[in-house]
Amino acid sequence: MKPHGPIPPGFVADDDNMLLIGGDRAETLVDAAGDTPLFVYDSAMLAARVAEWRAAMPAEVQLHYAMKANPYAPLLAFMARLVDGFDVASGGELRAALASGMAATDISFAGPGKRDREIEAAIAAGATLNLESAGEAARALSIAARIGAVPRLAVRVNPDFDLKGSGMKMGGGAKPFGVDAADVPALVRRLIASGADWQGFHIFAGSQALDAGAIAETQARTVALAARLANEIGAAPPLVNLGGGMGVPYFPGDAAVDAAAVGRALGETLAQRDAVLAHSRFAMELGRWLVAEAGVYLTRVVDRKISHGETFLVTDGGLHHQLAASGNFGTVIRRNYPIAIANAFGTEPAETVTVVGCLCTPLDRLGDQVALPRGDVGDLVAIFQAGAYGASASPATFLGQGPAREMLV
Ligand SMILES: *Cc1c(COP(=O)(O)O)cnc(C)c1O
Repeated sequence: MKPHGPIPPGFVADDDNMLLIGGDRAETLVDAAGDTPLFVYDSAMLAARVAEWRAAMPAEVQLHYAMKANPYAPLLAFMARLVDGFDVASGGELRAALASGMAATDISFAGPGKRDREIEAAIAAGATLNLESAGEAARALSIAARIGAVPRLAVRVNPDFDLKGSGMKMGGGAKPFGVDAADVPALVRRLIASGADWQGFHIFAGSQALDAGAIAETQARTVALAARLANEIGAAPPLVNLGGGMGVPYFPGDAAVDAAAVGRALGETLAQRDAVLAHSRFAMELGRWLVAEAGVYLTRVVDRKISHGETFLVTDGGLHHQLAASGNFGTVIRRNYPIAIANAFGTEPAETVTVVGCLCTPLDRLGDQVALPRGDVGDLVAIFQAGAYGASASPATFLGQGPAREMLV
């Protein structure tokens, strides 16, 4: 038997042991959607998460949603009313963000490899470009001149440090992301001299950290770096985007980030900040911390079989919707995501089974030798922490399967 990750708090069953999501029975939601596999996103949990963040953080810090975690249109429209901005990383995400009702001036566009047409769309809309290189800066300025617009430009800084304990390091050393800190002052001076509307800095050091102390330390270094750069430039950044990094517990032994501790430390950091940043605004950009927990992936058992004494539950879902849960999205060692039999939720485990998807590849495992209540053909398997990097971060067309259904409740 191998353990699975912790089921997020707040999920309960009805008297019939059926998992409830947003107060509705999982089986009822599947009927309403038409079939499995199905991602269900609980809007009340999304709202509670944003409220938890706001209660924990200093009031002056704004909350941006990094929409690559989950770009489902109804979820975006819901989040647009709750957060202060969206961070996008492609022209397609920019279009989705604009369609969600988020104001263009509250959208920032980061990411390497922006094509000219994407840069033009962002400038024309009035969104902020987080510039990833000197070359991108030059292209943005010439596109802005051609269309006669004053571009809103921020510079993404590749910091000289990374976020300790983070699952994905996005700063420190040679990186495709951002402009090396040493080159930033000269670039920003050129942007200001060209007449661009300089929006400040974007400094993102890493992702999926659970240690509040590590996040706090990175934020303190980020604020210090912003101050040092501002003093060198001789101009105050209107906005310092501090990045994100707050992760979620996916695996056995993981525990939730202490958001209140992050907020207290950030309050102290900002209270002590260099005078050059006195009038700057600050923002954090979060993806998974905001949306992962609110999502449940429901898939139905199609077959139950025994091979060499091991029991397999074969489902109609798989890595084509849940690449991360299969262990093939940026993890070195495969471990089990939180998993349950949705129609026997909260009941005692009765057997050790391996839950696989319907793809013809040994990579397609959703739960490896997990202890679960007995599962039979027709039962519903629930994978939790499915609200981020699920549907849009998985190869839905692999083996001709197609996308899962999605639903916001
Ligand atoms: C991916 C990404 C995020 C979101 O990361 P999460 O771990 O989902 O919070 C935020 N900012 C940038 C620049 C990113 O690339």
